[in-house]
Amino acid sequence: IKKIAVLTSGGDAPGMNACIRAVSLAAIGAGAEVIGYKYGYNGLLKQEYIHLDPYAVRNLLQRGGTVLHSARCEKFKQTDQLHIAAQHLNDAGVDGLVVVGGDGSFKGAERLQSIWDKPIVGVPGTIDNDVAGTDYTVGYHTAIQTAVESLDKVRDTAEAFERIFVVDVMGREAGFIALNSAISAGADHVLLPETFTTAAEELVKILDKLDKRRKNRANKSHIIVVTENLWPGGLNVLADSLQAESGVDVRILTLGHVQRGGSPVWQDRLLATKLGTYAVEIIKQGQKGMMSAINHRLPAAVPLNDVSIERKELNSYSMQIRDEISLLG
Ligand code: ADP
Repeated sequence: IKKIAVLTSGGDAPGMNACIRAVSLAAIGAGAEVIGYKYGYNGLLKQEYIHLDPYAVRNLLQRGGTVLHSARCEKFKQTDQLHIAAQHLNDAGVDGLVVVGGDGSFKGAERLQSIWDKPIVGVPGTIDNDVAGTDYTVGYHTAIQTAVESLDKVRDTAEAFERIFVVDVMGREAGFIALNSAISAGADHVLLPETFTTAAEELVKILDKLDKRRKNRANKSHIIVVTENLWPGGLNVLADSLQAESGVDVRILTLGHVQRGGSPVWQDRLLATKLGTYAVEIIKQGQKGMMSAINHRLPAAVPLNDVSIERKELNSYSMQIRDEISLLG
């Protein structure tokens, strides 16, 4: 291999920079040149890239965000645009492409692979952890850490005023961030897309738990973690119902995009370094349409095709203890 290209696409995540660095250093170590396309697939369509040498990637391991920028690119879904991208890769003399992104970006990578004859490898970079075939995704641990720190702070103010706080965390269609940040911060209730039934049923469950906990303990504060976009009509609807039924002050906190920022925690740095390095290994082996993954703690090349079909499960033991533990607290 003479030249490898890398790009970051879709929802940004802490540790994407660490991926760029790992891919670059591994490729340079193998004697290849490296280019980085900017703004996700947009850079590929516009032939807009920068050269990545060891100097360009210095200090990227610890930096949040992505120096290549991330973006969505609707145009890339058109087949004629995929052909333009393939032509641009050939024009630039690229022998292998690494796409750091989530499952949406992987669909694009899979389609591009069907018309381009050199290897494309996906590196799972998303805070949501919703990519099957890999134990974890880059950015996930940092997002949990950010959510946990925020929940700890909310707990202080909730206790001071004996309020109920409804906290919205990210996760797209998956409850990984919600479940694990809720347990790690000792939240009292968590609402997950994997188990959500109806607003009416969920409200009964919340009120029931609230009631039990209020009988058990002196402080009347209560923290409820909710996965984004889950409650029908939005969290105002939930907050109004809760306030009306319980008579306790309810406040809403939306953590939002802070969860995508910040210096990556060590787990994400390590994961990014392993996955980026292994992505170059997969390209060197000439394997096409793969995701560089850590599967049961070992590096693995997983077909992108399998990734898009499978749904990743939440940890069953975390699910089991989430209710038991919060009722006692
Ligand atoms: P994520 O990668 O974080 O899941 P998105 O779902 O927004 O983010 O996808 C990121 C980008 O991947 C899209 O803007 C588009 O450029 C590309 N993409 C997604 N689905 C497809 C598809 N079916 N065909 C081609 N490109 C796609």
